[in-house]
Amino acid sequence: MTYAQRTSHLKPEGAYAVLAKANQLEAAGKDIVHLEIGQPDYETFSNVSLAGIKAITQGRTRYTSPDGMPSLKEVIARDAGQRRGMEIQPDEVVVSPGGKPNLFFPTLALVEPGDEVIYPDPGFPTYEAMIKVAGGVPVAVPLLEHNQFSFDLAAFDKLITPRTRMIILNSPSNPTGGVIPLADLEHIAAQAQKYDAWVMTDELYTRIVYDGLAAPSIAALPGMKERCIIVDGFSKTYSMTGWRLGFGIMPKELADRVGLLLTHSIGSTAHFTQFAGIEALTGPQDMVNAMVTEYQRRRDVIVDGLNSLPGFSCQKPQGAFYAFPNITGTSLSSDQLANLILEKAGVALLPGSSFGKYGEGYLRLSYANSIEKIEQGLERIRAIL
Ligand code: PMP
Repeated sequence: MTYAQRTSHLKPEGAYAVLAKANQLEAAGKDIVHLEIGQPDYETFSNVSLAGIKAITQGRTRYTSPDGMPSLKEVIARDAGQRRGMEIQPDEVVVSPGGKPNLFFPTLALVEPGDEVIYPDPGFPTYEAMIKVAGGVPVAVPLLEHNQFSFDLAAFDKLITPRTRMIILNSPSNPTGGVIPLADLEHIAAQAQKYDAWVMTDELYTRIVYDGLAAPSIAALPGMKERCIIVDGFSKTYSMTGWRLGFGIMPKELADRVGLLLTHSIGSTAHFTQFAGIEALTGPQDMVNAMVTEYQRRRDVIVDGLNSLPGFSCQKPQGAFYAFPNITGTSLSSDQLANLILEKAGVALLPGSSFGKYGEGYLRLSYANSIEKIEQGLERIRAIL
């Protein structure tokens, strides 16, 4: 079978591949600790679930406007604007089934074949996949472990050129948990303006930050809103991965284009899901705060535990729910070590190399799991090392 070239490079996300292997081992009777999948272990908060159920019973089971219900877009514009200290109009909001379509479709709308797109490596695998589907040239910028895994700015300055159409940022980051410092955002913003590049800022984890810090948005810097696409959603913040609800914020003209791509692809986001989204944003936020407090406790346990393992050293991430230890001291490749840990210790985690070539030498562990499981996983890894 031959496929169109634009899809020939696609491969599964590492997390799904490891999950499948872990499930096989489980089916054969092995006990597995799951630290591979990046999704909250919380149920969707009950006020949100009930709003979705009520919407279904009230017949909110129809198509909606492809770019989302006006009432939801209004609530998103207000909430997202307040949190970032910027003015956002409802017609700059595009609602989608999860954040992913708001990564993919603005890329299709902006990137011509041959255009260069800068993206973080190690980074979320969807970035490289979507750049290539659009025919763009992915340009990987390595990250600096000792500066919150922010861009290596010296490398970035060499890689940005007049051919750069878009720069992708992800803060807080999957897979590193890093939060890009404001000074680095200012540097990147100045370069984006100089080279007239778009900036796609993936802020899916913006509410999951620790130690009382906030993750600043590059879109809130002077002169940046008109060249930015903010991507955010409900999956992580409200533990709603399976509801499929996310959004993009971008200049109205681009929002209209992306709306057309949604019209001709997904049609619309599920009607009742959007009602659940309104409740998530307008209802009490104490569950989100409690969840983040608990994640911080888990982060401290997993980072301390990883730092006590021979050959491991782990920075303290400021956001998301991933630890990204450096494992070069074990003298194994990240793939070898991840396989060994899965097969011998029964702990599923991801090799850093599944997030790009600069992820080699690291592992990714999701701590969206109980302290008990995290401690059990660490003990098992210690035992085989
Ligand atoms: N961006 C990042 C960095 C992510 O980790 C994820 C989920 N794994 C997404 C976007 C997409 O999330 P969703 O489509 O569920 O909103």
